[in-house]
Amino acid sequence: MDKIIELKNVSFVYDTQEEQKPALRNVSLDVRRGEFLAVIGHNGSGKSTLAKLLNAILLPTEGQVLVEGMDTADEDLVYEIRRRVGMVFQNPDNQIVATIVEDDVAFGPENLGVPPAEIRQRVDDALRAVGMYEFRGAEPHKLSGGQKQRVAVAGVIAMRTDCIIFDESTAMIDPKGRREVLETAKRLCREMGITVVMITHFMEEAVQADRVVVLDSGRVAAEGVPSEVFADSALLRRTGLELPFAAKLAGKIRTAGVPLPDGLLTPDSVADALFAAAQEAEVI
Ligand code: ADP
Ligand code: MG
Repeated sequence: MDKIIELKNVSFVYDTQEEQKPALRNVSLDVRRGEFLAVIGHNGSGKSTLAKLLNAILLPTEGQVLVEGMDTADEDLVYEIRRRVGMVFQNPDNQIVATIVEDDVAFGPENLGVPPAEIRQRVDDALRAVGMYEFRGAEPHKLSGGQKQRVAVAGVIAMRTDCIIFDESTAMIDPKGRREVLETAKRLCREMGITVVMITHFMEEAVQADRVVVLDSGRVAAEGVPSEVFADSALLRRTGLELPFAAKLAGKIRTAGVPLPDGLLTPDSVADALFAAAQEAEVI
């Protein structure tokens, strides 16, 4: 298995934390190249701290974070690490620095010292990849939340990073924008081979990942494919997480007496199972 990021026994304590309660405790975790990894956990479980450790915004208090084998604690490597791992934050309004969309997307590669002709190409490619090319001349403040986040994603893509971390990047935008950002992230992963770490509190997003990591009080409480993680109701209760809506609905339908199989996590799978049950019962 090819690891793009490796955390080895990582703990992190904020200097300002009063009782020195660690935000992360002894976390060991790999991010696999090309995967779509979801990280879930209740508020304060350490998700944003983890995100910031992945591209050297924060450095571990104990343990080690390796990005393509490079130790994030090595100051000389920070630039190389940031070229490989980019971050999209929660608030779309805090990430836009320019007054025209294409200038904003160019900002990252300009800082990397990419030659102007290549920047032009990268900006166009990146805006096409997120479906925002037609807005290249627009003023960012006139865009919707989802569109702004896609511009922020384009800014990361234009730096040609291998991995993009989304730190609850869909939390502050409307449902349509949320779908746009999620679909964009999935497409970048499937079609461009970009590794995606999607930190989210929407379980509907987590079920679409290849793998899910559950954080609880700064520790990794569980890790597995979505069908495993969401089948563990005791884990979900313990860590304060909800089932995805479709899974709750499937549970209600079962309780009402319709025999549906276990492990239904998406609206499509519930619809298919309900159709099969109706056929079986010769209702339709
Ligand atoms: P999440 O993103 O899952 O909500 P965070 O990583 O933001 O969790 O926070 C983990 C813990 O660290 C929480 O207890 C939080 O209060 C604390 N924390 C987060 N940021 C800071 C900070 N800048 N200074 C002090 N404590 C912080
Ligand atoms: Mg957070």
